[in-house]
Amino acid sequence: MLKKKDIIFENLYRKFSPYLSAAKERGDWKNTAKLIKQGSNKIVEIIKESGLRGRGGAGFSTGMKWSFMPKKKSREHYLVINADEGEPGTCKDRDIIRNEPHKLIEGCLLSGYAIQSNTCYIYIRGEFGEEIEILNKAIEEAYKHGLIGLNACGTGWRFDIHLHLGAGAYICGEETALIESIEGKKGQPRLKPPFPANVGLFGCPTTVNNVETIAVIPTILRRGASWFSSLGKPNNTGSKIFCISGHVNRPCNVEEELGVPLKTLIQKYAGDVIGGWDNLLAVIPGGSSVPLLPKEICESISMDFDSLKEAGSGLGTAGVIVMNKQTDIVSAIRRLSEFYKHESCGQCTPCREGTGWLMRMMKKIELGDFIPEDLEMLENVTKQIEGHTICALGDAAAWPIQGLLRHFKNEVLLRSKKHYVA
Ligand code: SF4
Repeated sequence: MLKKKDIIFENLYRKFSPYLSAAKERGDWKNTAKLIKQGSNKIVEIIKESGLRGRGGAGFSTGMKWSFMPKKKSREHYLVINADEGEPGTCKDRDIIRNEPHKLIEGCLLSGYAIQSNTCYIYIRGEFGEEIEILNKAIEEAYKHGLIGLNACGTGWRFDIHLHLGAGAYICGEETALIESIEGKKGQPRLKPPFPANVGLFGCPTTVNNVETIAVIPTILRRGASWFSSLGKPNNTGSKIFCISGHVNRPCNVEEELGVPLKTLIQKYAGDVIGGWDNLLAVIPGGSSVPLLPKEICESISMDFDSLKEAGSGLGTAGVIVMNKQTDIVSAIRRLSEFYKHESCGQCTPCREGTGWLMRMMKKIELGDFIPEDLEMLENVTKQIEGHTICALGDAAAWPIQGLLRHFKNEVLLRSKKHYVA
């Protein structure tokens, strides 16, 4: 359980102003110059030691990602912040931007320095009207007080931040599609390699990080790698913002240690499942892209990268979507398949054709218009999409259906007009 003294996002619920003077009172921008003067290699080492894994979904080591950037700077280096947050069930980056924008801005400066970047682009979801306004104002404050700009915090380091507004395409949350979009092109993922650390924005070395990942950097550098790694579990260190939505009495965002039991999150913070814990049907634990977990697994599962992977799901963005027994689970997954079909960028055949096929098949299943063999074919098609596409959207479309068939096959069969049960 996360202790009060270890909470990073003290203003998650907007008890105080998000702007500079209140942010400074909470400890932001304290001794930033001293942190920078440790040198970029040292900063990368501290972040590696802390065990911080990216908070955007993939869970890759942040320090390791930074170390892929060229050591010698022969071209411009770019830091790009992914604030496109479009994963259904996820609303944590929005709250960070809205309530703790200076944690993000200071994190950009420190992370930019670590990868030797003088320029940062924050790619923010265009629909985030209030957040864009707040972030713009906070960036202006940071310039005005010399915290960023020509001589950031008096260190002699030039650091500029530009806000770039997205236009609502889910796929622009994929790092290379996001880069394409900033370059003014259609937001479509690039084939990798080359990876952004070699050829990224405008053909230059680039690191793309999620908002939450960057917003925790200043606190880790201030409090130390060992403090951060003492929270959570080995290989799953630190705290994380969980977003709990769906059939709970009090949907909320909460910062907790990685490894917190899912049941605690739902009961302690979200006021339990509507109708009580025994009325729980299933939970999608990491945003809509990961397979659901039935109640039996939810009883004891820990919310961290490794435990959820072992259980056949994933932590993803930690967007916890709770479904009680009044949920029509087939309809719920059919709606997700429509979402992924709509958001496919259409570049690769398994995704472009497959997501449409999955959606149509799910619609037939919802109507009971299928035979048991169709379910086998459905599962096979998900396997042919998974891992055979340019980006992870193909997997994201396949996994919710795989989860449904793995845990609720009998319920799906019962849906057939002929009522087949295994
Ligand atoms: Fe586009 Fe889908 Fe291929 Fe990703 S997997 S590149 S979204 S077609």
